[in-house]
Amino acid sequence: YAGKSGNQLLGEHVRKLSVKDYKSVPVVVKEETSVYDAICTMFLEDVGTLFVVKEGGILIGVVSRKDLLKSSMGNQDLQTIPVGVIMTRMPNIVRCTLEDSLSEAAAKLIRYQVDALPVVKEAENGGGLEVVGRITKTTITRAFVELGEEATV
Ligand code: ADP
Repeated sequence: YAGKSGNQLLGEHVRKLSVKDYKSVPVVVKEETSVYDAICTMFLEDVGTLFVVKEGGILIGVVSRKDLLKSSMGNQDLQTIPVGVIMTRMPNIVRCTLEDSLSEAAAKLIRYQVDALPVVKEAENGGGLEVVGRITKTTITRAFVELGEEATV
């Protein structure tokens, strides 16, 4: 261990954790999906963030719980409002790639104050960024718990 401190070793270990190994399955909807159906999807799939995609799974937006709450506050008909009009749009979406480290993804969650990042890769036809996963604050919490458990064995 060549005189490395416990902290240095832990740091090296943490930096090796990869988005590829920790990502979870993304839950996606289409731009035409109604706010009503998006709320149902959030409950059924038990997630807090939906990614909005077009054909080929190409990322075009993100819808959070607060986006849906905000659009539910008036007396509008939620069945007729598409998520496309309330979502946060590309290119203003903070995202990560399969090759990123988990700590880079965690730093983005903190810096941009969001709950989830889509994991993306360049689509083969060059038509945009394909959503292949999801990193959330829960992902980071799970990795943290695992680190603590490893340290006791
Ligand atoms: P909530 O609004 O439920 O607390 P967030 O903090 O994740 O959830 O979302 C805050 C705002 O940021 C919302 O308007 C949402 O559309 C947007 N947002 C969420 N995730 C991202 C992201 N990865 N990149 C850019 N904007 C995002």
